Amino acid sequence: MAIPVISPVLAWALGDKRQNWAGNFEYSTERLYSANSPERVRDFVRKQAALKVLGTRHCFNKIADSSHYLLSLKAMDKVVALDLQARTVTVEAGTTYGQLCPYLDSKGFALHNLASLPHISIAGACSTATHGSGDANGNLSTAVSALEFVTASGDLLKLSRHQHGESFSGVVVGLGAFGVIAKITLDIQPSYMMQQYVYEGLPFSELKEHFDSIMSSAYSVSLFTDWQKHRINEVWLKQRIEGDKPFQPTQEFFGAKVATKNLHPIAALSAENCTPQMGVPGPWYERLPHFRMGFTPSAGRELQSEYFVPRRHAVEAILAIERLHEQIGPYLLISEIRSIAADKLWMSPCYGEPRVTIHFTWKPDWVSVQGLLPSIERELEPFDVRPHWGKLFTISPAKLRKSYQKLPDFINLCRRYDSNGKFRNDFLNRNIFDAIS
Ligand SMILES: Cc1cc2nc3c(=O)[nH]c(=O)nc-3n(C[C@H](O)[C@H](O)[C@H](O)COP(=O)(O)OP(=O)(O)OC[C@H]3O[C@@H](n4cnc5c(N)ncnc54)[C@H](O)[C@@H]3O)c2cc1C
Repeated sequence: MAIPVISPVLAWALGDKRQNWAGNFEYSTERLYSANSPERVRDFVRKQAALKVLGTRHCFNKIADSSHYLLSLKAMDKVVALDLQARTVTVEAGTTYGQLCPYLDSKGFALHNLASLPHISIAGACSTATHGSGDANGNLSTAVSALEFVTASGDLLKLSRHQHGESFSGVVVGLGAFGVIAKITLDIQPSYMMQQYVYEGLPFSELKEHFDSIMSSAYSVSLFTDWQKHRINEVWLKQRIEGDKPFQPTQEFFGAKVATKNLHPIAALSAENCTPQMGVPGPWYERLPHFRMGFTPSAGRELQSEYFVPRRHAVEAILAIERLHEQIGPYLLISEIRSIAADKLWMSPCYGEPRVTIHFTWKPDWVSVQGLLPSIERELEPFDVRPHWGKLFTISPAKLRKSYQKLPDFINLCRRYDSNGKFRNDFLNRNIFDAIS
């Protein structure tokens, strides 16, 4: 049977709601189409005056929204090539980390890092500078070594780190503004095993004195706090097992006690949807994320915001947020603090210097959260704060413009591939393109 050039998926009509993952907004169009090959993407792009690609819908803001057309590449989820010599894997852009990782591991390879969940599309995650944690780990976009994307004219273009230096650094964290990524190539490394230990109750006084030692104590470190009682509720340490030497935990870690059972970051919730802890060795892709594939990640009914501050200001910034604990408390499910290495990707919040993120998982009460965000952003403003591109923020476009020195170059590059703004939407116009005028 001939496959139609572009099939209307009508996922919405099949009972799937027209909403993002969190359900905090509905997309502005019911016209969702699906493509299953780069050729079909090209046909579709040529025909439309405006469209946006939808990944796995995990952004909390309207960065992926369109009032014209949405294009899903969910059907494009194959591994295209595993290049053993170059140490890269190329996948179609609809592939999720949850699909890629077991395949990679079965071939003896791994990625350098993962986000808290494997459910997200690789193209969507890399377009928004999605990150995990680890002093030496760049965000997930830093693993991208080449991209094939369809420009506004329908041309298929390939850019690589090796051949296109500067423009490549511009397009990787592309915020969906350059075109439709059809294939993406990632750096890989030999597979590794990991252990995960959780500690409970690390006093803020220890954090203040020993922040660098704490954050560098494992391959990936996450600190969870509700900002109450002057302490970090849970410290998650993810350690690579080098050779045949397992990581031996101490009973105490900067005043925190090693947990005696698996925990969820929100201690009141069941740890069933979390990756195994208590030092049980497991493959990298089942330890780096906090949440397991096949289960609802995080709390499920929630909103998220996240702010990046330069590493050198981390302690001051954390203490500034702690001062807001009374205002934050009623609306918060949990906060997470992570560290990310510097990179050279223009629109990455970690461009040029390492940063620490302060993340907020909120109760699903947007009116109250929206009222609170400006106070948080005001506290963080002295530290050149940058928001996560896929989460909720109220920082003004003018402040974003000031913080991102590469924004004018980014806009020029976007114009090269999309001169009439086919891939722009209200979010991009407000935060990127209008910010410069
Ligand atoms: C429970 C939960 C946990 C999370 N944990 C983390 C975390 O640990 N770390 C972190 O940094 N973030 C985290 N996030 C945020 C999330 O990873 C990012 O927002 C990411 O962008 C989601 O990818 P997606 O495919 O679902 O994006 P979507 O919302 O579908 O799209 C995001 C952007 O990518 C563009 N895009 C998608 N595919 C393509 C393509 N093929 N070509 C061109 N543009 C494309 C879209 O147009 C849009 O601009 C979390 C989100 C949730 C819901």
